[in-house]
Amino acid sequence: MKALVFTATGQPTIEQRPRPTIVAATDAVVKMVKTTICGTDLHILKGDVATCNMGRILGHEGTGVVDAVGANVTRFKVGDRVIISCITSCSSCEFCRRGLASHCEDGGWVLGHTIDGTQAEYVRTPHADGSLHHLVKGASEEVQVMCSDVLPTAFECGVLNGRIKPGSSVAIIGGGPVGLCVTITAQLYAPLKLIMITRDTNRLRIAKDLGATHCIGFGPNAVKEVMELTGGRGVDTVIEAAGVPATFELCQELVAVGGTIANLGVHGCKVDLHLDKLWHKNIVIATSLIDAVSTGTLLKLLDSGKIKPDVLLTHTFSFTEILDAYSTFAAAALHNAVKVVINF
Ligand SMILES: [Zn+2]
Repeated sequence: MKALVFTATGQPTIEQRPRPTIVAATDAVVKMVKTTICGTDLHILKGDVATCNMGRILGHEGTGVVDAVGANVTRFKVGDRVIISCITSCSSCEFCRRGLASHCEDGGWVLGHTIDGTQAEYVRTPHADGSLHHLVKGASEEVQVMCSDVLPTAFECGVLNGRIKPGSSVAIIGGGPVGLCVTITAQLYAPLKLIMITRDTNRLRIAKDLGATHCIGFGPNAVKEVMELTGGRGVDTVIEAAGVPATFELCQELVAVGGTIANLGVHGCKVDLHLDKLWHKNIVIATSLIDAVSTGTLLKLLDSGKIKPDVLLTHTFSFTEILDAYSTFAAAALHNAVKVVINF
């Protein structure tokens, strides 16, 4: 089979690989139908993810058809149409039973990281019963690819950790696919002000279309503009969706008394925490990796049309064009790209 592989050059390449087979009785093998590229894949290519070895098949998102199942898989059979979660969950270790599948003792984020991933014609998915979901009928398959990672990450690490309440004020810093998915799912909790702060003017426009009440360019005036919108108080929830020191600084400047900072950005270097200015403000700072515990709920919301993230799917490629898909996604601002879909 053909597979997209991480190589020492920092450039992704397509290689011929043997088709995966069932290794453990809880495995499934899925014939891929759709996949996508995540910002995390770009981090791996840059060498930022030391735990990912050269030669690894990348990808932790996608949909497909079950091609083979191990003897102990009970919830899926050959021919089932499925969504592959970016988080593998054994469902039985201490962490899984506490709802912390990101730290599963035999799973977590392994696909396209410590085992071969979804940017290939076939993928082996360990612990299939805890790590796959059936496709729903009410949304396109493309849209459901976003339930592998970006939608549950936005909802769990941003919206739920951010403790958004009806009538509250929310600022999202970072307009990438996950930040835009926060814009969509935050509205399930009816905040009064939903402020998107990002550099990319195209993404500010998309955020507005998705229901952001205010859109602010990231820069020196951002604090002043948010304070004007909030009577000088700041926002009840500020969601960090960029993962750089400057955006985490901005979170600390914007959070209101009694507020919450929810971090979902992937930080590659240390940041300053200004506790001398924050200790008395009764705030909460939440960090987490996606546990994919909300995937079933989000699929129901997609199925019913309650959330509609279709506009985030900006580009489509065939798997033979995946190198073009990588260059488009790597220069997303230039191409007005948000999420790219790759069809097998
Ligand atoms: Zn587990």
